[in-house]
Formats: sequence, C-alpha cells, structure tokens
Amino acid sequence: MRAMLLEAPGRALRLVDLPVPKPNPEQLLIRVHACAVCRTDLHIVDGELAHPKLPLIPGHQIVGTVEAVGEKVKFFHPDRNSGESVPERLRVGVPWLGRTCNHCRYCLSGRENLCDRAEFTGYNLDGGYAEYAVADYRYCFEIPPGYPDVQAAPLLCGGLIGYRAYRMTGDAEKIGFYGFGSSAHILIQLARYQGRQIFAFTRSGDVKGQEFARQLGAVWSGSSEELPPEPLDAAIIFAPIGKLIPAALRAVAKGGVVVCAGIHMSDIPSFPYEILWEERILRSVANLTRRDGEEFLALAPKVPIRTQINLFPLSQANEALNALRNGEIEGSAVLFTQEDKQ
Ligand SMILES: [Zn+2]
Ligand SMILES: [Zn+2]
Repeated sequence: MRAMLLEAPGRALRLVDLPVPKPNPEQLLIRVHACAVCRTDLHIVDGELAHPKLPLIPGHQIVGTVEAVGEKVKFFHPDRNSGESVPERLRVGVPWLGRTCNHCRYCLSGRENLCDRAEFTGYNLDGGYAEYAVADYRYCFEIPPGYPDVQAAPLLCGGLIGYRAYRMTGDAEKIGFYGFGSSAHILIQLARYQGRQIFAFTRSGDVKGQEFARQLGAVWSGSSEELPPEPLDAAIIFAPIGKLIPAALRAVAKGGVVVCAGIHMSDIPSFPYEILWEERILRSVANLTRRDGEEFLALAPKVPIRTQINLFPLSQANEALNALRNGEIEGSAVLFTQEDKQ
C-alpha cells in the first residue's frame, strides 16, 4: 500500500510502499477512503509532541470501510456486543483515542480520555495517511449515513474533541471562538442549532477568516487582540497560542469559563490575577471518550453539520500540512486516496 511516513520529527513525510497491515485479534483492517488533517498532526510532524512512534504513519481522522476483521471482533461497537458479525464493507471512523487500558482509575471512572496507558492513533499507533489502516474495533465509530467519506472525516477530531470542549462551556449563551479553523467551523453549526451566539476571533488582519465566520453565522468576528462588543459567557481557544489565554479571560464575564481545546500551546504569558478573579474558570480539554464520539456523531446529522473541505491527494500530505501551517485552509483539509474523491 502507499503511505506517507514520518521518519523523524521536523522532516517532510515520505511517500513509501508498505505491506498492508494485518489486523490483530481485536482489530479491523480498514481500507482508508479519507483522512482529515488535524493541527495535532502538525505538532507531531514538527516535533512539538514528545516520543511519537517512529517511523509513523500520521492521521487520526480516518474514514474507510472494513475489509477484514480479527478473530475476537464481535461487532465494532462496544455497546452492541451481541456476537453479531461485522456487516460487509461497514463504513467506520477511527478517532484519536486508539486504545485504553480499561483498568486504571481514569478508565474506571468514566474518564478514559485521561487513561494512564492510552494509545493514540497517528501518534503511538499508525494512522490514516495511507491506503489501509488497522484499528481496535472497540474504539471505532459508525459513520452516520448521508455524509460522503471526505465530508465525514473532519468530524472525527475537529468535531469530536471540539464537541468535548464545547460541552465544557455548559449552558453559555455567548461563546467566543479563538481561532476559526476545522473545529470552530464545525462547532459553530451546532452552537447556532442550539440557539447560542458565537463571537469569532482570528489573527489580526485575517479578513477572509473573519468573513468565513460571519458566513457561518457568527454574530461578530474580529481580531483576537480586540475585545468583543459585549462580555462573553465562555470562550474556547482552538489556536495553539498561549497569549490568547489572557485575551480570552479579559473577554469573559464574571463566572465565565475559558476552555483550551488544543493538545499543545506556546507558553502562556503571566497575567494579573484580577482577570481570573470573580470565579472565572480556566481549563483544558484532553483527548476524547467514546461517549463524546457517540453523542456528537448522533447530533451531527440532526443539525445537520456540513464540513467545508479542502481536498488533497494522499501523496500531497506535506502540501496539506503546509497549507494548514500557513493558515491557508478555510474549514478542514482532507486527504483522499485516488478513486475516492467525492
Ligand atoms: Zn486506563
Ligand atoms: Zn486531532
């Protein structure tokens, strides 16, 4: 199979020919149709996340069809352990959470996203920048019908982990989004469906991004250096920039929450206690639970959430990553394997 391989952090991915992987007893062999590109992929390729598997096939927003199953696979979904076999060519999605231990104190308390021994797709495990991938069936999701493969792929991280961050804003009515990329363009659709108002903050001078946010229904958009026209109930920081934390704390009202949605961020500058005072809350969100995924993928078709995608053939993964790095992607970047462009 063709795959894009990371051999060392800081180096471009290399197009290679590898044997198709064999599923272990608990894995599905998946023919990859699409794999969306996440900012986390960029952090891994750039060496900002420590100790990736090497060499590594990146990519953790995989959509494909089941080609073969390991002998212990009952049904790919954990709640449907009826002993049914997997329907032929079932369409599945593989997210960032690839495997958990099921017996640490986090796993046992409904917080498998924090599992001590979690393994992540496209980081500790090979991912979806390839024509085939294997994945533990218990962590895969069924893709809702009505979504073409390439449209569904960004839901698997931009959507799922974005949803976890969004949920942490509780019943906030006015929410600021700092950074308006893949996650934000998905979550604004859910927020509007639920009657909330989104205020979009982008790099100063990013007129296109600000316009894109307004097209998707943001009530206000502007530079992250500005204050919103009125105090917000909550803010989510999607961009990996530490100085946005004091900016967001200044933008939220008393009791407001600021959620950091990314896995990596530049250092946070010091800030006066008074902008945290009055019960403002600052928190991060790490990874996802399977429950987040189930909930979000059930909601997405109801809205219905539509992703805006920028397609790249698999062999142009480096170009896709560079476009993301340079802020050239409106919506989500998605890799497809030749005949699957839809
Ligand atoms: Zn665990
Ligand atoms: Zn991701």
